[in-house]
Amino acid sequence: MKDCLFCKIINKEIKSDIIYENENVVVFKDINPQAPVHLLLVPKQHISSIVQIDKLACDQICELVKSISKIAKELGLDSSGFRVVTNTGTSAGQSVDHLHFHIMGKRDFKWPPG
Ligand code: 5GP
Ligand code: ZN
Repeated sequence: MKDCLFCKIINKEIKSDIIYENENVVVFKDINPQAPVHLLLVPKQHISSIVQIDKLACDQICELVKSISKIAKELGLDSSGFRVVTNTGTSAGQSVDHLHFHIMGKRDFKWPPG
């Protein structure tokens, strides 16, 4: 989508540190990391948030979720633990309106998250 920051990253119009990519998914480093590992996993197809998940095909959704597991294991996050977050809407502090999953690890996290 025109004027979407993450679509521009997906299309390589804006530079980012992409660590994994397949037909449906891109994973890149967050520009302002909140943990030693802080990645953003996005579907290549633009949807604004998880509220619009019905717009994705089931195989795309499956690949999103499997990619989280694959990346976590490849980076060794699965042994110590990690956090997956998708901020949705204003009260959750979503700042980019393209569905994204934060994958954060290599530190301890508090609960509730605040
Ligand atoms: P949200 O606040 O919507 O949950 O998450 C958006 C995330 O995108 C933030 O963690 C922010 O640091 C990250 N971000 C914003 N602009 C850029 C950018 O240009 N490049 C990268 N790699 N991350 C960005
Ligand atoms: Zn987008």
